[in-house]
Amino acid sequence: MRWMHSNPSSAPLFSLLVLLCALVLFLTGCAGQTRAEHAADLAARQELAAAPRHGNTAQYSLAPAELAKAQHLSSVGELLHFGGEAWDILCLVLLLSFGAIAWMRDRSLQISSNRWAQGYAFLFLFLLATTLLDLPLDLYGHHLSLRYGLSVQGWPSWFWDQIKVFALAWGIGGLLVMLLFWIIRKLERMWWLVFWCVSIPILFFGIFVAPYMEPMFFQYQPLEKTNPALVARLEQVVRKGHMNIPPQRMFLMKASAKLSTLNADVEGFGASKRVVVWDTTIAHMTPDEIVFVFGHESGHYVLHHIRNTILFTLAILLATFYLGYLFVQWSIKKFGSRWGVHSQNDWAALAVLLLAFSLFGTLLEPIENSYSRRHEHAADVYGEEAIHGLVADPQTTARNAFDVLGKTSLADPNPNPLYVFWTYSHPSIGYRAAFAQAYNPWAPPRKPRYFKR
Ligand SMILES: [Zn+2]
Repeated sequence: MRWMHSNPSSAPLFSLLVLLCALVLFLTGCAGQTRAEHAADLAARQELAAAPRHGNTAQYSLAPAELAKAQHLSSVGELLHFGGEAWDILCLVLLLSFGAIAWMRDRSLQISSNRWAQGYAFLFLFLLATTLLDLPLDLYGHHLSLRYGLSVQGWPSWFWDQIKVFALAWGIGGLLVMLLFWIIRKLERMWWLVFWCVSIPILFFGIFVAPYMEPMFFQYQPLEKTNPALVARLEQVVRKGHMNIPPQRMFLMKASAKLSTLNADVEGFGASKRVVVWDTTIAHMTPDEIVFVFGHESGHYVLHHIRNTILFTLAILLATFYLGYLFVQWSIKKFGSRWGVHSQNDWAALAVLLLAFSLFGTLLEPIENSYSRRHEHAADVYGEEAIHGLVADPQTTARNAFDVLGKTSLADPNPNPLYVFWTYSHPSIGYRAAFAQAYNPWAPPRKPRYFKR
């Protein structure tokens, strides 16, 4: 009640609640499944319900030794996920409570009277502290990946990647922090709205340039050069979907230098939009299965999932910025003197704002993941329909692709539904394999959703 009272208007809060309710309704509402989708969804749900928790399902099963590894990874993963989130929040509270954040601010102010030097110095100290505090969990995560054969990246290369991530966060994060504090100084009460408006072009730009930054971590090559026969098959999918994905926008990523897991994705925006297939996928899957994986990715491409995700992210950001603004006001009033954070224009307030983002990010996580799972499911349906007529048996091809995908990543066949709801960006492999095997829109009177028969 107090933070409502201390703020001049509750109208933005009301709009925000309406927006969030609309989002939740949109997410939980039935998207009008076709008959074939409904039947396959029901079959997949029944299959998961009949299988033991964390045990094999009818369409996706692991050998006993592999299943034990998958179950261990799943339970450790749950612990690392929620433990990691709680640890991040706890670290920020402790850094504030023990005056470490105020100390960082004081050191930055001593360094120079120049605001750019101060901002970058504060951010450097802050990132250094949080990176070091996160390091034990990150080290353990990579150790597990190596132990279970999900990663082949040696420690020196792994550390070098961490340094690059740190440098990017400091360099690019610094620009954002300078912009944020400039807006906070100019607009004490409305900075959250103005910063959100400014973040729109920044978000578009970030997605646009991401494909040009990724060669810092992995090597990319035109797929046409490395796998011309495969490109010819992928072009069949492109032609079938009347899509505009020229071969110049198909890339091979040399994932095998660091990873053993498989993947493919669609990234970029406008002129940088492209489909990327990992070389590990090509090494482990049959050409038919790769064509299905590409069908799934082209589904993201033609169903405008990147654009929709940008719009969704902007709604989430608006909510997060406004709640962050309220949280900073409230907590500085209540704990500011104890933490040594004087105002929202204090460099130290950045830690308070990031604490708010961590708290609300954790709470918004299931909404974001539910949204993502809808896209992934739609792309699965699209992919299976896209390969109809191009492979002998689309249902078995798609199911086999999920089987390979699951086995190479030691995916839990039947994870806890609540954990899936909260943290999974994709439906579980068990569900995807069961749905794919049961999905048959080509038997009249059923009809495909995306392709005319
Ligand atoms: Zn996908």
